[in-house]
Amino acid sequence: MEKKKDFRFECIRCGKCCTDKNTLVNLTYLDILRIKNGLNLDLKEVLEIVGFYIYEKKLTTKELNRMVISPLETERGPAFIGLIKDKRGFCCFYDEKNSKCLIYALRPLFCRTFPFSFTYSSNEEIKEIELFYTEKGKQYCPGIGSEAPIINLDDWIELGNKTIKELNKNYIFIAKWNKSVKNRQIIPSIKTFLLNILN
Ligand code: SF4
Ligand code: SF4
Repeated sequence: MEKKKDFRFECIRCGKCCTDKNTLVNLTYLDILRIKNGLNLDLKEVLEIVGFYIYEKKLTTKELNRMVISPLETERGPAFIGLIKDKRGFCCFYDEKNSKCLIYALRPLFCRTFPFSFTYSSNEEIKEIELFYTEKGKQYCPGIGSEAPIINLDDWIELGNKTIKELNKNYIFIAKWNKSVKNRQIIPSIKTFLLNILN
């Protein structure tokens, strides 16, 4: 892990994280709710922007434990929830002409935190946030680099705290849904899942 003083980053708005074919723009249920309320969308419109990406191969417990957002059980198998992308991999909210995000104030956690990810330190006594560059960030984000300014660590730690809290809430929400599916208490349809969030 990098030393704190080594974090250099400034977004140059290149749009790579919004247009990379292999980057899933993850959504928590709270992201969906914020976008739905902010844009005043109905269920049909939410279905047009939220994608359920089915994971083809069977996931190992190790892989599942490493995931920041666990997959959702659906009628078609475990799925990852993310913003819909076009065939090229461009996010549905990316304004190509002006190279900007059409829902900047409502953008998901994933976009707010890119190219960083957060974890609590392994020191049990001090619950401290640690941040690190994501693999995708290191792969293609030109905002990271020795020429970039040193980040304001306090701001990022504050965002990290909010992010971890939201991810925990999301984890509980998904775990509850998956348990109900396993116990055959609900039909795992995507529509039912969204109605659960929206209501
Ligand atoms: S890839 Fe990095 S520099 Fe480019 S828009 Fe995303 S965060 Fe900003
Ligand atoms: S929501 Fe906005 S910031 Fe996030 S990937 Fe889409 S266009 Fe980019």
